[in-house]
Amino acid sequence: MDTTLRVWTWMHPPVDDTEQKLEKRLRRLKTGGVDGIFLLVYDGRKAFFESGVLPVDSDQLTRVLRIADRLGLEVHAWMFTLNCNVDWVQEHHPEWFVVNRKGHSTLVERPYVEYYNWLCPSREEVIGYVLSVVHEIARIPGLAGVHLDYIRFPDVILPKGLHAHYNLVQDRELPEYDYCYCEVCRKAFREETDRDPLREKDPSQDEAWRRFREKRITRVVELAAAEIQAAGKQTTAAVFATPSLARQLVRQDWPRWPLDAVFPMIYHKFYDEPPEWIETAGREGVEALRGRIPLFAGVFVPELPGNLAGEALNLALRGGAQGVSLFSAEALTDEQLAAVAKAKETALST
Ligand SMILES: [Zn+2]
Repeated sequence: MDTTLRVWTWMHPPVDDTEQKLEKRLRRLKTGGVDGIFLLVYDGRKAFFESGVLPVDSDQLTRVLRIADRLGLEVHAWMFTLNCNVDWVQEHHPEWFVVNRKGHSTLVERPYVEYYNWLCPSREEVIGYVLSVVHEIARIPGLAGVHLDYIRFPDVILPKGLHAHYNLVQDRELPEYDYCYCEVCRKAFREETDRDPLREKDPSQDEAWRRFREKRITRVVELAAAEIQAAGKQTTAAVFATPSLARQLVRQDWPRWPLDAVFPMIYHKFYDEPPEWIETAGREGVEALRGRIPLFAGVFVPELPGNLAGEALNLALRGGAQGVSLFSAEALTDEQLAAVAKAKETALST
Protein backbone atom coordinates (compact mmCIF):
# COMPACT_ATOMS: atom_id res chain seq x y z
CA MET A 1 0.00 0.00 0.00
CA ASP A 2 1.07 3.52 -0.78
CA THR A 3 2.39 5.09 2.41
CA THR A 4 1.63 8.73 1.76
CA LEU A 5 -0.81 10.66 3.90
CA ARG A 6 -4.35 9.44 3.49
CA VAL A 7 -7.77 10.10 4.89
CA TRP A 8 -10.35 7.33 5.01
CA THR A 9 -13.90 7.00 6.22
CA TRP A 10 -16.22 4.16 7.23
CA MET A 11 -19.46 4.41 5.29
CA HIS A 12 -22.77 2.57 5.65
CA PRO A 13 -24.51 1.61 2.42
CA PRO A 14 -26.56 4.46 1.03
CA VAL A 15 -29.84 2.64 0.54
CA ASP A 16 -32.13 4.80 -1.51
CA ASP A 17 -29.77 7.20 -3.21
CA THR A 18 -30.31 8.10 -6.83
CA GLU A 19 -27.23 8.37 -9.03
CA GLN A 20 -27.27 12.13 -8.52
CA LYS A 21 -27.61 11.97 -4.73
CA LEU A 22 -24.89 9.37 -4.50
CA GLU A 23 -22.53 11.41 -6.63
CA LYS A 24 -23.18 14.43 -4.39
CA ARG A 25 -22.51 12.35 -1.25
CA LEU A 26 -19.23 10.99 -2.57
CA ARG A 27 -18.09 14.28 -4.04
CA ARG A 28 -18.61 15.94 -0.65
CA LEU A 29 -16.24 13.38 0.91
CA LYS A 30 -13.67 13.82 -1.84
CA THR A 31 -13.74 17.60 -1.46
CA GLY A 32 -13.31 17.12 2.30
CA GLY A 33 -9.98 15.40 1.72
CA VAL A 34 -11.16 11.78 1.86
CA ASP A 35 -9.09 9.39 -0.30
CA GLY A 36 -10.68 6.05 0.51
CA ILE A 37 -13.94 4.56 1.74
CA PHE A 38 -14.72 1.44 3.74
CA LEU A 39 -18.16 0.59 2.45
CA LEU A 40 -20.15 -1.80 4.64
CA VAL A 41 -21.12 -4.76 2.45
CA TYR A 42 -21.53 -7.52 5.05
CA ASP A 43 -22.79 -6.84 8.56
CA GLY A 44 -23.09 -10.44 9.74
CA ARG A 45 -26.85 -10.40 9.45
CA LYS A 46 -27.51 -11.90 6.04
CA ALA A 47 -25.68 -14.81 4.43
CA PHE A 48 -24.54 -14.81 0.84
CA PHE A 49 -25.26 -18.43 0.12
CA GLU A 50 -28.79 -18.15 1.51
CA SER A 51 -29.97 -15.36 -0.69
CA GLY A 52 -27.51 -15.56 -3.54
CA VAL A 53 -27.19 -11.80 -3.47
CA LEU A 54 -24.84 -9.42 -1.77
CA PRO A 55 -26.07 -7.98 1.54
CA VAL A 56 -25.68 -4.55 0.03
CA ASP A 57 -27.89 -3.92 -2.98
CA SER A 58 -25.69 -4.95 -5.90
CA ASP A 59 -26.95 -2.19 -8.21
CA GLN A 60 -26.13 0.34 -5.53
CA LEU A 61 -22.70 -1.20 -5.00
CA THR A 62 -21.95 -1.06 -8.72
CA ARG A 63 -23.05 2.56 -8.73
CA VAL A 64 -20.86 3.45 -5.73
CA LEU A 65 -17.85 1.78 -7.38
CA ARG A 66 -18.45 3.53 -10.69
CA ILE A 67 -18.85 7.01 -9.18
CA ALA A 68 -15.95 6.50 -6.74
CA ASP A 69 -13.72 5.46 -9.61
CA ARG A 70 -14.67 8.57 -11.54
CA LEU A 71 -13.92 10.79 -8.52
CA GLY A 72 -10.66 9.02 -7.67
CA LEU A 73 -11.89 7.50 -4.41
CA GLU A 74 -10.61 4.07 -3.41
CA VAL A 75 -13.29 1.66 -2.16
CA HIS A 76 -12.68 -1.27 0.21
CA ALA A 77 -15.42 -3.65 1.32
CA TRP A 78 -15.99 -3.44 5.07
CA MET A 79 -17.20 -6.70 6.63
CA PHE A 80 -18.11 -8.10 10.03
CA THR A 81 -15.95 -11.20 10.55
CA LEU A 82 -16.76 -13.13 13.74
CA ASN A 83 -19.80 -11.22 14.95
CA CYS A 84 -22.69 -13.16 13.46
CA ASN A 85 -26.45 -12.69 13.48
CA VAL A 86 -27.24 -14.70 10.38
CA ASP A 87 -30.49 -16.62 11.05
CA TRP A 88 -29.36 -19.67 9.08
CA VAL A 89 -26.15 -20.00 11.10
CA GLN A 90 -27.92 -19.52 14.43
CA GLU A 91 -30.59 -22.11 13.55
CA HIS A 92 -28.35 -24.77 12.00
CA HIS A 93 -25.11 -24.29 13.92
CA PRO A 94 -25.75 -23.03 17.46
CA GLU A 95 -22.55 -24.91 18.45
CA TRP A 96 -20.46 -22.45 16.37
CA PHE A 97 -20.94 -19.68 18.92
CA VAL A 98 -18.49 -18.80 21.69
CA VAL A 99 -19.15 -20.02 25.24
CA ASN A 100 -18.27 -18.04 28.37
CA ARG A 101 -16.59 -19.26 31.55
CA LYS A 102 -20.03 -19.88 33.05
CA GLY A 103 -20.79 -22.30 30.19
CA HIS A 104 -23.24 -20.10 28.30
CA SER A 105 -23.14 -19.45 24.58
CA THR A 106 -23.72 -15.87 23.39
CA LEU A 107 -26.89 -17.25 21.81
CA VAL A 108 -28.19 -17.90 25.34
CA GLU A 109 -26.56 -15.10 27.32
CA ARG A 110 -25.50 -12.10 25.26
CA PRO A 111 -22.95 -9.76 26.80
CA TYR A 112 -23.73 -6.01 26.69
CA VAL A 113 -25.92 -5.67 23.59
CA GLU A 114 -28.45 -7.62 21.52
CA TYR A 115 -26.24 -8.14 18.48
CA TYR A 116 -23.31 -9.60 20.46
CA ASN A 117 -23.39 -13.09 18.96
CA TRP A 118 -19.89 -14.30 18.16
CA LEU A 119 -18.43 -17.25 16.27
CA CYS A 120 -15.70 -19.40 17.82
CA PRO A 121 -12.42 -19.03 15.88
CA SER A 122 -11.22 -22.51 16.94
CA ARG A 123 -13.81 -24.34 14.85
CA GLU A 124 -12.83 -25.35 11.32
CA GLU A 125 -16.47 -25.05 10.15
CA VAL A 126 -16.57 -21.46 11.38
CA ILE A 127 -13.35 -20.68 9.53
CA GLY A 128 -14.82 -22.30 6.41
CA TYR A 129 -17.91 -20.12 6.72
CA VAL A 130 -15.93 -16.91 7.25
CA LEU A 131 -13.65 -17.72 4.32
CA SER A 132 -16.63 -18.33 2.05
CA VAL A 133 -17.91 -14.83 2.86
CA VAL A 134 -14.43 -13.35 2.34
CA HIS A 135 -14.14 -15.21 -0.98
CA GLU A 136 -17.45 -13.80 -2.26
CA ILE A 137 -16.51 -10.27 -1.29
CA ALA A 138 -12.91 -10.38 -2.49
CA ARG A 139 -13.94 -11.23 -6.02
CA ILE A 140 -16.24 -8.23 -6.49
CA PRO A 141 -14.67 -6.30 -9.37
CA GLY A 142 -13.64 -2.73 -8.72
CA LEU A 143 -12.92 -3.12 -5.01
CA ALA A 144 -9.40 -2.31 -3.85
CA GLY A 145 -9.54 -4.46 -0.74
CA VAL A 146 -11.42 -6.15 2.07
CA HIS A 147 -11.59 -4.53 5.50
CA LEU A 148 -12.03 -6.96 8.39
CA ASP A 149 -14.01 -5.71 11.39
CA TYR A 150 -15.24 -7.56 14.50
CA ILE A 151 -12.25 -9.86 14.14
CA ARG A 152 -11.91 -10.67 17.83
CA PHE A 153 -13.51 -12.15 20.94
CA PRO A 154 -16.26 -10.23 22.73
CA ASP A 155 -14.77 -7.63 25.13
CA VAL A 156 -13.78 -9.45 28.33
CA ILE A 157 -13.49 -5.92 29.71
CA LEU A 158 -15.18 -2.99 27.97
CA PRO A 159 -13.20 0.19 27.26
CA LYS A 160 -13.36 2.05 30.58
CA GLY A 161 -15.27 5.06 29.26
CA LEU A 162 -18.24 2.76 28.55
CA HIS A 163 -18.54 1.17 32.01
CA ALA A 164 -20.85 3.82 33.42
CA HIS A 165 -23.15 3.54 30.38
CA TYR A 166 -23.57 -0.20 30.99
CA ASN A 167 -23.59 0.25 34.77
CA LEU A 168 -20.65 -2.13 35.16
CA VAL A 169 -17.73 -2.63 37.49
CA GLN A 170 -15.12 -4.52 35.47
CA ASP A 171 -11.93 -4.26 37.51
CA ARG A 172 -10.97 -7.81 36.50
CA GLU A 173 -11.98 -10.51 33.98
CA LEU A 174 -15.44 -11.67 35.03
CA PRO A 175 -16.60 -15.18 33.98
CA GLU A 176 -19.75 -13.98 32.18
CA TYR A 177 -17.68 -11.85 29.74
CA ASP A 178 -14.75 -14.25 29.33
CA TYR A 179 -14.74 -16.38 26.11
CA CYS A 180 -14.28 -19.04 24.69
CA TYR A 181 -14.59 -22.13 26.86
CA CYS A 182 -16.34 -24.33 24.30
CA GLU A 183 -15.31 -27.98 24.03
CA VAL A 184 -13.21 -27.38 20.92
CA CYS A 185 -11.21 -24.55 22.52
CA ARG A 186 -10.67 -26.44 25.78
CA LYS A 187 -9.61 -29.62 23.97
CA ALA A 188 -7.14 -27.79 21.72
CA PHE A 189 -5.63 -25.98 24.70
CA ARG A 190 -5.44 -29.24 26.70
CA GLU A 191 -3.55 -30.86 23.84
CA GLU A 192 -1.01 -28.03 23.88
CA THR A 193 -0.55 -27.63 27.62
CA ASP A 194 -2.24 -30.53 29.41
CA ARG A 195 -4.41 -28.01 31.28
CA ASP A 196 -8.15 -27.36 31.24
CA PRO A 197 -8.71 -23.59 31.49
CA LEU A 198 -12.07 -24.21 33.13
CA ARG A 199 -10.44 -25.97 36.08
CA GLU A 200 -8.10 -23.11 36.82
CA LYS A 201 -8.79 -20.90 39.81
CA ASP A 202 -8.13 -17.72 37.85
CA PRO A 203 -7.72 -18.28 34.09
CA SER A 204 -7.03 -14.56 33.59
CA GLN A 205 -3.59 -15.15 35.14
CA ASP A 206 -2.71 -17.87 32.64
CA GLU A 207 -0.54 -16.24 29.99
CA ALA A 208 -0.55 -19.36 27.81
CA TRP A 209 -4.37 -19.38 27.75
CA ARG A 210 -4.43 -15.77 26.67
CA ARG A 211 -1.80 -16.38 23.98
CA PHE A 212 -3.75 -19.42 22.79
CA ARG A 213 -6.80 -17.29 22.15
CA GLU A 214 -4.80 -14.52 20.47
CA LYS A 215 -3.35 -17.11 18.10
CA ARG A 216 -6.84 -18.38 17.23
CA ILE A 217 -7.82 -14.91 16.05
CA THR A 218 -4.51 -14.40 14.25
CA ARG A 219 -5.05 -17.65 12.36
CA VAL A 220 -8.42 -16.47 11.02
CA VAL A 221 -6.76 -13.24 9.86
CA GLU A 222 -3.96 -15.18 8.16
CA LEU A 223 -6.38 -17.40 6.26
CA ALA A 224 -8.64 -14.50 5.30
CA ALA A 225 -5.66 -12.43 4.14
CA ALA A 226 -4.45 -15.31 1.94
CA GLU A 227 -7.90 -15.52 0.34
CA ILE A 228 -7.99 -11.76 -0.24
CA GLN A 229 -4.46 -11.68 -1.60
CA ALA A 230 -5.29 -14.51 -4.00
CA ALA A 231 -7.98 -12.22 -5.44
CA GLY A 232 -5.33 -9.51 -5.92
CA LYS A 233 -6.76 -7.26 -3.22
CA GLN A 234 -5.49 -5.63 -0.05
CA THR A 235 -6.37 -6.71 3.49
CA THR A 236 -6.94 -4.16 6.23
CA ALA A 237 -8.59 -4.40 9.63
CA ALA A 238 -10.33 -2.27 12.24
CA VAL A 239 -8.78 -3.15 15.60
CA PHE A 240 -8.80 -1.99 19.22
CA ALA A 241 -6.96 1.22 20.07
CA THR A 242 -3.48 0.06 21.09
CA PRO A 243 -1.65 -3.28 20.94
CA SER A 244 -1.79 -3.68 24.74
CA LEU A 245 -5.48 -2.75 25.06
CA ALA A 246 -6.35 -4.97 22.08
CA ARG A 247 -4.66 -7.99 23.67
CA GLN A 248 -6.09 -7.29 27.09
CA LEU A 249 -9.70 -6.51 26.14
CA VAL A 250 -10.40 -8.60 23.03
CA ARG A 251 -7.41 -10.94 22.42
CA GLN A 252 -6.20 -9.20 19.27
CA ASP A 253 -2.43 -9.40 18.76
CA TRP A 254 -2.71 -7.16 15.72
CA PRO A 255 0.93 -6.09 15.29
CA ARG A 256 1.56 -9.68 14.11
CA TRP A 257 -1.27 -9.82 11.60
CA PRO A 258 -0.45 -10.07 7.85
CA LEU A 259 -2.27 -6.90 6.82
CA ASP A 260 -1.53 -4.21 4.24
CA ALA A 261 -2.54 -1.50 6.71
CA VAL A 262 -4.12 -1.37 10.16
CA PHE A 263 -6.84 0.92 11.50
CA PRO A 264 -6.93 1.02 15.32
CA MET A 265 -10.11 2.65 16.58
CA ILE A 266 -8.62 5.34 18.79
CA TYR A 267 -11.98 6.58 20.04
CA HIS A 268 -10.61 8.63 22.94
CA LYS A 269 -13.89 9.22 24.80
CA PHE A 270 -14.57 5.46 24.93
CA TYR A 271 -11.43 5.23 27.06
CA ASP A 272 -12.00 8.40 29.11
CA GLU A 273 -9.05 10.02 27.40
CA PRO A 274 -8.54 13.51 25.90
CA PRO A 275 -8.11 13.98 22.12
CA GLU A 276 -4.30 14.11 22.63
CA TRP A 277 -4.51 10.37 23.19
CA ILE A 278 -4.90 10.00 19.40
CA GLU A 279 -1.19 10.85 19.21
CA THR A 280 0.08 8.74 22.12
CA ALA A 281 -2.06 5.67 21.41
CA GLY A 282 -1.17 5.91 17.72
CA ARG A 283 2.51 6.04 18.58
CA GLU A 284 2.24 2.85 20.65
CA GLY A 285 0.84 1.04 17.60
CA VAL A 286 3.36 2.51 15.19
CA GLU A 287 6.24 1.46 17.45
CA ALA A 288 4.89 -2.08 17.79
CA LEU A 289 4.64 -2.39 14.00
CA ARG A 290 8.28 -1.28 13.51
CA GLY A 291 7.49 0.22 10.11
CA ARG A 292 6.16 -3.06 8.71
CA ILE A 293 2.82 -1.63 7.57
CA PRO A 294 1.17 1.79 7.77
CA LEU A 295 -1.21 2.65 10.61
CA PHE A 296 -4.17 4.98 10.25
CA ALA A 297 -5.83 6.27 13.42
CA GLY A 298 -9.56 5.58 13.53
CA VAL A 299 -11.28 8.57 15.10
CA PHE A 300 -14.87 9.00 16.30
CA VAL A 301 -16.08 12.21 14.73
CA PRO A 302 -19.10 12.89 17.00
CA GLU A 303 -16.53 13.50 19.78
CA LEU A 304 -14.45 15.86 17.62
CA PRO A 305 -16.54 19.00 17.11
CA GLY A 306 -15.52 21.55 14.47
CA ASN A 307 -11.80 22.15 14.12
CA LEU A 308 -10.96 19.26 16.43
CA ALA A 309 -11.57 16.94 13.47
CA GLY A 310 -8.66 18.61 11.67
CA GLU A 311 -6.59 18.57 14.85
CA ALA A 312 -7.21 14.80 15.09
CA LEU A 313 -5.38 14.39 11.79
CA ASN A 314 -2.46 16.50 13.08
CA LEU A 315 -2.30 14.44 16.28
CA ALA A 316 -2.36 11.17 14.34
CA LEU A 317 0.48 12.34 12.08
CA ARG A 318 2.53 13.49 15.07
CA GLY A 319 2.17 10.00 16.54
CA GLY A 320 3.58 8.48 13.35
CA ALA A 321 0.30 7.44 11.69
CA GLN A 322 -0.08 7.89 7.91
CA GLY A 323 -3.46 9.54 8.40
CA VAL A 324 -6.90 8.93 9.87
CA SER A 325 -10.10 7.06 9.25
CA LEU A 326 -13.23 8.94 10.20
CA PHE A 327 -16.17 7.17 11.82
CA SER A 328 -18.44 7.70 10.14
CA ALA A 329 -19.13 9.24 6.73
CA GLU A 330 -22.75 9.88 7.71
CA ALA A 331 -21.80 11.60 10.97
CA LEU A 332 -19.35 14.07 9.39
CA THR A 333 -20.54 17.67 9.34
CA ASP A 334 -19.51 20.14 6.64
CA GLU A 335 -17.50 22.02 9.25
CA GLN A 336 -15.58 18.90 10.23
CA LEU A 337 -14.88 17.96 6.63
CA ALA A 338 -13.58 21.46 5.91
CA ALA A 339 -11.30 21.23 8.97
CA VAL A 340 -9.96 17.86 7.83
CA ALA A 341 -9.36 19.13 4.29
CA LYS A 342 -7.51 22.17 5.62
CA ALA A 343 -5.34 20.13 8.03
CA LYS A 344 -4.50 17.72 5.23
CA GLU A 345 -3.55 20.48 2.83
CA THR A 346 -1.32 22.10 5.47
CA ALA A 347 0.36 18.78 6.32
CA LEU A 348 1.02 18.04 2.66
CA SER A 349 2.53 21.46 2.02
CA THR A 350 4.99 21.35 4.92
ZN1 LIG B 1 -14.46 -22.05 21.30
